[in-house]
Amino acid sequence: MVKICCIGAGYVGGPTMAVIALKCPEIQVAVVDIASARINAWNSDHLPIYEPGLDDVVKQCRGKNLHFSTDVEKHVAEADIVFVSVNTPTKTQGLGAGKAADLTYWESAARMIGDVSKSDKIVVEKSTVPVKTAEAIEKILTHNRKGINFTILSNPEFLAEGTAIKDLYNPDRVLIGGRETPEGAKAIQTLRDVYAHWVPIDKILCTNLWSAELSKLAANAFLAQRISSVNAMSALCEATGADVSQVSHAIGTDSRIGPKFLNASVGFGGSCFQKDILNLVYICECNGLPEVATYWKQVIKVNDYQKTRFVNRVVSSMFNTVSGKKIAILGFAFKKDTGDTRETPAIDVCKKFDWDHPAHLQPSSPTSIKTVSVVWDAYEATKDAHGICIMTEWDEFKKLDYQKVYDNMQKPAFVFDGRNIVEVEKLRKIGFIVYSIGKPLDS
Ligand code: NAD
Repeated sequence: MVKICCIGAGYVGGPTMAVIALKCPEIQVAVVDIASARINAWNSDHLPIYEPGLDDVVKQCRGKNLHFSTDVEKHVAEADIVFVSVNTPTKTQGLGAGKAADLTYWESAARMIGDVSKSDKIVVEKSTVPVKTAEAIEKILTHNRKGINFTILSNPEFLAEGTAIKDLYNPDRVLIGGRETPEGAKAIQTLRDVYAHWVPIDKILCTNLWSAELSKLAANAFLAQRISSVNAMSALCEATGADVSQVSHAIGTDSRIGPKFLNASVGFGGSCFQKDILNLVYICECNGLPEVATYWKQVIKVNDYQKTRFVNRVVSSMFNTVSGKKIAILGFAFKKDTGDTRETPAIDVCKKFDWDHPAHLQPSSPTSIKTVSVVWDAYEATKDAHGICIMTEWDEFKKLDYQKVYDNMQKPAFVFDGRNIVEVEKLRKIGFIVYSIGKPLDS
């Protein structure tokens, strides 16, 4: 019986392994982490992350072929396949600080795998890592360890938070990269057999190691670039009277462009897009490609500009000052259907208010910014507010009773829709002054 262990019980490790356990009942899956609070939560009725459908998957397998544990070494030692799904944040100091990926967690996981292993293992890069990381991992694993074979595969994860379970059940593709050697081919086949339990074989793409590693960075860079492209267009729409939704529809119907990921917004957030582009920029620079690095840097610059533009619009609309005014921030997660607030645009927007234009901010979820107080109810958050900033596209905010919201606000009442989810004309009829990104402005 194949045994799988995954190091890292986070947003990727937890859901991915839960789905493998569900789809492969004959495989024993252990998810291990050094964070005991996280493991305790995985073993409780209150999972550490919110994902639609996740509770159900975990409940079906936990205690049968799915186990969550802090006994990292034991489970790694017993496994045939070790996935490594630890965090790979941006380095904050030293060489490459602010751009390069911090591989500290990866390195310590690799050293531990080497130390505790007594049998051959396939080691799978599940984390997003810089291209050529497998070379470094191979050195760590094989140095001074004779008689045990480690085969490294790259199997980057393409799930999106908020739709993780759906994406894992029905992926656009599963990508497996390995060395072009007999051992590499055998390892690829083993991992392919795991995914083939539920993923159609033509959706399992096998490449060389470096293509797989780079494809994950490339995918995130392309997705983020699309957001920055439509957001750059939204600024031009506002300046000219064009409507970005109409422009997106017009260009998205071109089959070469396609309709997805063309919604203008206050900007992208989350723990991945910015870090992965910065990582790509660093790799380009290290490989003597400064012009390519500049190209990708611009995606981040436009994203920052979009948030600044949004805050400036709020302030200028509210008679050039928000000092002493109350602003309700609706939503704090970086997108809907997740509780993840890592690098959420809402934080950047609040910080910009906090530092540049002190206001009383009232978001409908937690934060640590000093002029902010937190409430969980949107009606309470908006009571007596001068303005509302919609930061997350939660369905709840589409369905609010905006007449009730308007009645309880200071007048004139402003709505700044950072996700373009409200019905602008309906709100204007109620009496709101509405700003929607990339749309014709209220006169
Ligand atoms: P996360 O921070 O939620 O989880 C990582 C976990 O690894 C943490 O719980 C941490 O305690 C654990 N860990 C770190 N070092 C460890 C060690 N030595 N031993 C045991 N546990 C250890 O991160 P995440 O969001 O799951 O992302 C993991 C990786 O997957 C990152 O490289 C990320 O870029 C990538 N990724 C993330 C997403 C996403 O949507 N979050 C999607 C695709 C890929």
